[in-house]
Amino acid sequence: DRLVTAAADGEDRAVEAALRPRDLDEFIGQERVREQLSLVLQAARRRGASPDHVLLSGPPGLGKTTLSMIIAAEMGAPIRITSGPAIQHAGDLAAILSSLTEGEILFLDEIHRLSRPAEEMLYMAMEDFRVDVIVGKGPGATAIPLELPPFTLVGATTRAGLLPPPLRDRFGFTGHMEFYAPEELERVIHRSARLLAVEIDPKGAAEIARRSRGTPRIANRLLRRVRDYAQVRHDGLVTPEIADAALAVYEVDPRGLDRLDRAVLHALLKLFGGGPVGLSTLAVAVGEEAETVEEVAEPFLVREGLLARTPRGRIATAAAWAHLGLTPPPQAGG
Ligand code: ATP
Repeated sequence: DRLVTAAADGEDRAVEAALRPRDLDEFIGQERVREQLSLVLQAARRRGASPDHVLLSGPPGLGKTTLSMIIAAEMGAPIRITSGPAIQHAGDLAAILSSLTEGEILFLDEIHRLSRPAEEMLYMAMEDFRVDVIVGKGPGATAIPLELPPFTLVGATTRAGLLPPPLRDRFGFTGHMEFYAPEELERVIHRSARLLAVEIDPKGAAEIARRSRGTPRIANRLLRRVRDYAQVRHDGLVTPEIADAALAVYEVDPRGLDRLDRAVLHALLKLFGGGPVGLSTLAVAVGEEAETVEEVAEPFLVREGLLARTPRGRIATAAAWAHLGLTPPPQAGG
């Protein structure tokens, strides 16, 4: 229920289909991945073969699903979309694999969350285009080998480091997705505004981009909330003033911090003099679970250089004091 979360909600999913770039030229940013992928796909097309398996790694909302659909479109191939957690048993994976058609793209989101048996089945499928289907149970069970048509697996993960090396090694190419620069997000916002028929001036787009935490999904979501405000309270045109006023309503500050992020920083600075303070104490101070503070608020605060995790506890940086407009006490070194 946070406006600045990178995870997709129901509305995102409904709108995202319409906002997805359809080919590599339309895909904004990620120059390195785009160039590498373009070579892989062109070479495969020239050989008339399926491209090597592709692993896309990076935080949520940066366009991994979009890229997998682009791979399918560029290859003129159908795509099947599933995810690690959706595959409960190796048998579920066998059913998917054995129904693939030649050249099909299989997109496996959150591949690091596959069960062990499914993962092992995938090794053989990726390497030899074969699966062993187990028939029967107990001592009488037999493995029936089944040939698969050539296909391309596109795996997505937020944690490439968590993948077992045998799985990682079976990908011919790994694309590392990076957070987007504000200028790139401005282009994403202009493009989405055009598709949603929202009038926006360049400074309005820049204002939204700055608050989007490097993530296109968040940029698109903030754009929709700003559009609502512009249409309800004004004439529909998105200016920087309107973006600022709209996002103030949703408590998204000029740097993209939301209420929880600011509460954590505020407690750290005002109650604990900038730290060091332990995670659980900090969590109690903001009335949240330690896990929420650690997994929801801290990654962005650390990335922004506002908070540091040290062996002695959490500490605020000079930038944190400046961001909240507070003066550090002399001993904080600020
Ligand atoms: P998750 O892993 O959480 O599903 P994801 O990395 O697969 O996230 P996508 O669903 O592909 O992210 O992208 C989220 C939204 O951001 C989509 O609506 C898509 O239109 C938009 N988007 C992502 N990357 C780009 C881009 N490079 N250019 C334009 N729009 C983009």
